[in-house]
Amino acid sequence: MRIVFVSPEMVPFAKTGGLADVTGTLPKEIQVLGQEVICFVPKYKKVDVNRWSLKEVIDRLQIPVGSEAETGRVFRFDDPSGVKVYFIDQPEYFSRDELYGTPLGDYPDNDRRFVFFQRGVLEALKKLNLKPDVIHCHDWQAGLTSTYLKTLYSNDPFFAKTKSIFTIHNLAYQGNFPPDSLPVTGLSWDEFKLERLEFYGKVSFLKGGLVYSDELTTVSPRYAQEIQTKEFGCGMEGVLQTRRNDLVGIVNGIDLEEWNPEKDPDIAANFSARKLEGKAACKATLQKENRFKVDPQIPLLGIVTRLADQKGLDILAPAIDALMKRGVQMVLLGTGDEKYHQLLRDLNKKYSHQLGAHILFDAKMAKRIYAGSDIFLMPSRFEPCGLGQLISFRFGTVPLVRETGGLADTVIDFDPRSGEGNGFVFKEYETKTLLGTLDRALVVYEDPKLWAKVVKNGMKADFSWRASARKYIELYERVKRKPVTV
Ligand code: ADP
Repeated sequence: MRIVFVSPEMVPFAKTGGLADVTGTLPKEIQVLGQEVICFVPKYKKVDVNRWSLKEVIDRLQIPVGSEAETGRVFRFDDPSGVKVYFIDQPEYFSRDELYGTPLGDYPDNDRRFVFFQRGVLEALKKLNLKPDVIHCHDWQAGLTSTYLKTLYSNDPFFAKTKSIFTIHNLAYQGNFPPDSLPVTGLSWDEFKLERLEFYGKVSFLKGGLVYSDELTTVSPRYAQEIQTKEFGCGMEGVLQTRRNDLVGIVNGIDLEEWNPEKDPDIAANFSARKLEGKAACKATLQKENRFKVDPQIPLLGIVTRLADQKGLDILAPAIDALMKRGVQMVLLGTGDEKYHQLLRDLNKKYSHQLGAHILFDAKMAKRIYAGSDIFLMPSRFEPCGLGQLISFRFGTVPLVRETGGLADTVIDFDPRSGEGNGFVFKEYETKTLLGTLDRALVVYEDPKLWAKVVKNGMKADFSWRASARKYIELYERVKRKPVTV
């Protein structure tokens, strides 16, 4: 089968969050299992032609946006795994510092940018004569691709046998635009209906994906259930209930090569579940780097996150005074909403010897935090899958999480009597429950033997992509057999 990934971000080229990790790793796993995978991503400013030795494969591609034809270029990267990555280029749209917007808000022409991208993908496939069996679309920026297949391209023999799958990585990001965006999409006003793309008076790119794709997936079984409810459905619960028989949850994995404490050159010392000594050096380095007291006994909490409401910062921020009173140290790395930037800068000043708040995106510092912390905090309000907890397991850092979405599917509360469990889990979304759970964790931390047990339980678990990649392939085969619907 030829599978085409359409995604707005992908490791190692452009990343704002977990989606990039998924689309950077899953294609390789699927390719290893004998399928052909090609990927499409916009050519952002950060994607450097020389650094990646990109080849120009189309110098002038006509791409319809609204009623006009615009032109773009297409570049290709040949990954050693056999996966081919194509970049849709139009500097006016994509040669910007960020992917989707600045901390102050989204770019105002995101509708045009991602229409250009998606129509560019379909036109490039035709020009390159790459007939897909399945187009696998990721998040709202790829939400209209299946809509196009079932509308503007429905009579195009090139795509006659092409099926589509849409994966929801985060239902809260929907790509909803005012009605005047509809002409930009090139779709007819027939699409501006409740049962199609209309969403509370807006044109929703995400809804296009949910309505028109042949199958839907999301990134954990728990989240697949949650998003059918009012609490987690972000207004899309009705559509998702209608499509519940076509919706599955497949949990994400992580790239075991990229996240590997035994070989990682960016951490102070290497270590493994059998030889844990190096982890102490990683902790000491992290303490030094943050000008904390260097002391192996002091519990060190780590956080690496987008600073968004979703991530539980509204229950974490009021807990910080109490946490500091408990004498713990805490390192936070994140960027996102301006309101959290200021708050964290203020707290950082107040507790400079116990709190290190780094407001930036830094992949190497992230690794030093995963490797050097004792406990990784993810008190998310909701979490489709979450990768932070899986990366933490790998680095021997114990996740403390809220029981929601993929966190509920991957983290098991530690029971000191049986010695079973790989983390600490709480349910009520409240500051006091978060603190109570941290206190439980600190009691276990006081007992080095017990702590070693919970650390090793996490390190031994298998969160590689292999099993999930097989599930995606089964799904591609199933969707290929489905009758064509328009
Ligand atoms: P989400 O996709 O919602 O942001 P995930 O837990 O699925 O959350 O994935 C987050 C990914 O992004 C992880 O690989 C994490 O290490 C990384 N990450 C998040 N913020 C930063 C940052 N400020 N610097 C470096 N890496 C980050």
